Amino acid sequence: MATIAFIGLGNMGRPMALNLVKAGHALRVFDPNPAAVAGLVAGGAVAAATPGEAVDGAEIAVSMLPAGLQVREVYTNAGGVFDRLPAGGLCIDCSTIDVASARDVGNEAAKRGLGFVDAPVSGGTAGAEAGTLTFMVGGPQSAFSAAKPILEAMGKTIVHAGGPGNGQAAKICNNMVLGISMIAVSEAFAMAEKLGLDAQTLFDISSKSSGQCWAMTSYCPAPGPVPTAPANRGYTPGFAAAMMLKDLDLAEKAAESVGAATPLGHLAAQLYRDYCAQGAGGKDFSGIIQMLAKGA
Ligand code: NAD
Repeated sequence: MATIAFIGLGNMGRPMALNLVKAGHALRVFDPNPAAVAGLVAGGAVAAATPGEAVDGAEIAVSMLPAGLQVREVYTNAGGVFDRLPAGGLCIDCSTIDVASARDVGNEAAKRGLGFVDAPVSGGTAGAEAGTLTFMVGGPQSAFSAAKPILEAMGKTIVHAGGPGNGQAAKICNNMVLGISMIAVSEAFAMAEKLGLDAQTLFDISSKSSGQCWAMTSYCPAPGPVPTAPANRGYTPGFAAAMMLKDLDLAEKAAESVGAATPLGHLAAQLYRDYCAQGAGGKDFSGIIQMLAKGA
């Protein structure tokens, strides 16, 4: 079992860190929010005052942070993780961040003789708690192989997506499909209602026809057809609209950086921005059907 520094103990990081404790690892933890740290200390972890201090005596650092800015700070600031982790140490960043930051930080790790993988997740807080997350991993094969047993304590599906940044690339490509398809399904169900076609009938037909997709069959934005969907509990998340907007913005930034044409990704970001501006950022992303149902 390893000594692991865990940095960023929010909605996702807290249950992920607890699963590492449960697997028998010794945890040293840091988060600027003292309440988040207290929750982990109660679970058996040791509190540290800075990310660098968390790394003292550890062989592995794991992070779950809001954005690229914090990831750069935690790893590359003077006295941070890269300065204090011994050569040969391994870093696993599970945050969803921009591809460029993931590649920069990964390359900096390599220069210092450290292993680094970007390993964003799919599965949300429920998956983090149950230890069933999917990890999309970017980085050298050696770092992936070293990270895999650690990730297996927090997730069920661990996929190597290629070199540095490719985990982030996979995450935002997938979520761009999800954002666009959720809007498409929402438009169809909102229009069906106006045409006098009820949601269950459209679902019964379309879920077995060429319009079938995950946003419809597992997460239908219209109340009724999929009992477990947030549509049946007032659109409480689930996956918050503000998180979807974050991922669509990251996708746009990535598309711009390589000259990829993503007109629907652009429009999806704009629609989620409008939805969040109405104060709905904390609602599930499938709630966008309510904005679209208001009509043209
Ligand atoms: P969160 O805001 O609940 O947690 C972030 C934590 O990071 C907070 O506890 C905050 O205090 C801490 N933090 C901020 N700056 C820090 C710093 N400089 N050093 C150390 N800690 C710092 O967010 P979350 O929901 O846990 O999400 C974390 C990451 O996971 C994000 O990148 C998000 O996009 C991604 N993600 C979230 C979900 C989800 O459903 N919540 C799903 C998939 C991916």
